[in-house]
Amino acid sequence: MSKREFQTEVSQLLQLIVHSLYSHPEIFLRELISNSSDALDKLRHLTLVDEAYKSLPFDPRIDLELDEEHKTLTISDTGIGMNEEDLVSHLGTIARSGTKNFLSQLSGDARKDSNLIGQFGVGFYSAFMVADKVEVLSRKAGDDKAWRWISDGKTSFEIEPAERAVAGTTILLHFNEEGAQYANSWRLQEIVKKYSNHIVFPIFLAYDKSEWNAEKKESIKTRVTEQINVASAMWRRSKNELKDEDYKELYKSLTGDWEDPLFWFHTRAEGSLEYTTLFYIPAKAPLDLYQADYKTGVKLYVKRVFIMDDSKELLPQYLRFVRGVIDSEDLPLNVSREILQQNKILTSIKTASVKKILSELKGIAANDPEKYAKFIPEYNRPLKEGLYGDYANRETLIDLIRFKSTKVDGLTGLADAKSRMQAEQKSIYYITGGTEALLRTSPLLEIYKKKGIEVLILDDDIDEIVFSTVEKYGDIDLKAVNKSAAGEELKDESEPEDVETLKPLLEKLKTTLGDNVKDVRVSTRLADSPSCIVSDEDEPSARMRQMMRAMGQTDMPELKPILEINPNHEIIKKLVARSDDGTAQDAAWLLFEQALLLEGVPIKDPAIFVQRLNRVLSQSI
Ligand code: ADP
Ligand code: MG
Repeated sequence: MSKREFQTEVSQLLQLIVHSLYSHPEIFLRELISNSSDALDKLRHLTLVDEAYKSLPFDPRIDLELDEEHKTLTISDTGIGMNEEDLVSHLGTIARSGTKNFLSQLSGDARKDSNLIGQFGVGFYSAFMVADKVEVLSRKAGDDKAWRWISDGKTSFEIEPAERAVAGTTILLHFNEEGAQYANSWRLQEIVKKYSNHIVFPIFLAYDKSEWNAEKKESIKTRVTEQINVASAMWRRSKNELKDEDYKELYKSLTGDWEDPLFWFHTRAEGSLEYTTLFYIPAKAPLDLYQADYKTGVKLYVKRVFIMDDSKELLPQYLRFVRGVIDSEDLPLNVSREILQQNKILTSIKTASVKKILSELKGIAANDPEKYAKFIPEYNRPLKEGLYGDYANRETLIDLIRFKSTKVDGLTGLADAKSRMQAEQKSIYYITGGTEALLRTSPLLEIYKKKGIEVLILDDDIDEIVFSTVEKYGDIDLKAVNKSAAGEELKDESEPEDVETLKPLLEKLKTTLGDNVKDVRVSTRLADSPSCIVSDEDEPSARMRQMMRAMGQTDMPELKPILEINPNHEIIKKLVARSDDGTAQDAAWLLFEQALLLEGVPIKDPAIFVQRLNRVLSQSI
């Protein structure tokens, strides 16, 4: 027998689980059953596709055996099993990439939030919530040797050679005080129905059943074994046979989420291709949504046989928050990852699934705005990623995305923004490039405010990149107000500007600012501010360049902004009249630098800026 220490992270995790999850300790059973189900799936798949496994027996079942008197429960499966190495690496170390993330995301208060923990599906270790000793007896399919793994879940575990008649795994739980309540057949049946009813393999429970014996006039206990789940691939049943509760239950058993899903879309396709899809939208975006190694949430089945659940080919990346099942009649059972990538059948299923999900969402947005309002804060951003990458579905996606706006509280869609357009308004306008507060106070919005025209506030950092590729909404132009041409069409004809008198000032400003600006122009978009900066139509804005530089693009040519001045502003009027002395030069720089600041671009040399500011201040006091 050999004794080994757990990795430190495991001990930490164990403590956490035991202390944080006590409000739902029953999930230990869901976790162990789903591990058994996974193990059966894995073996079934191998027996179908791998020569070495084809001759092995496959009699899939999960058995629970209850010993009420001794307060023990075993969970056995006839699945893939584990050898010595597997036992050490899967149960003795953190096998799951998710677990480390999980630990790092949990801080003080969050540790008490069992919802958060539930989302991660803490797996095997949850057994230690209810047991003070756990024994795992396992024999890997194809091996003759079996192994026993024993631990009290505190700091160490032991492994020894053992005997097991057939391949598979048996988990023996010695219930602790907390767990004693589960040494009860009613309780176990209830929990299995709640979480594991639709596991596709049969789950049997062996227990001592009390029955009234009329002859002897007493209740007699007999040992019985009964199947306690429905064990059907629920998604294959027709919609009208299924209740909301069935859908929610399947969702929870698939994902380990505690919360009900927001929506689900269940489709059966018949015709040239036959398949069933059942997609769920979780109430909360998965915690790893923005991590490069996110876990996918759609399982692929072929004729009800589980194939894989970690393929990123099943749905486009931007829909990575979707959970559920794709079950195809037409794919071969031995379909491999490589084949999936260019498989025509899967491509058509995928295309149709995306269309289905998006059109269902569109329906909800139109018919049930309240529900949609729960969806959008969680998933607006991935939809934007879709708008950027999924050309085929652009029109639908752009209608699903929501925006902040100068005209409405909360969020609005483009269709609504369109319906609010003013008679003279030719385009739908938006502003990007900074925090919401910065954008809302930008001088670039002045003319729009004055004319009562709505501007959408795009303050998400991916907005500029995404929307620079979207030029139109239907037949209406979408324009960024920080691009030079956007102001043109709002020009007030009633205020003829005296270009001639401004010309000398424009020249002076250009000379002073030299290489730092591309041009200095008279603005048509300012009301209260003296100056602003804009970029040329086809150039990235100042803020975007800054972002690209931060992301490591250092070889970008230094693009120069255009400075616009407000001919009606007092400072400008005074400057026109003033000869080109030191103060006028300071003023020129300050006009430029304040405009940069308002765009969220830091000033290159703050010390010089402050010197200038102080010179001008000392003159005016
Ligand atoms: P997860 O199921 O998310 O991978 P768990 O902590 O539940 O995490 O299980 C860790 C690993 O232990 C599994 O990935 C699997 O390799 C192995 N394992 C657990 N239970 C079984 C079982 N009944 N049969 C075979 N392998 C198992
Ligand atoms: Mg598990």
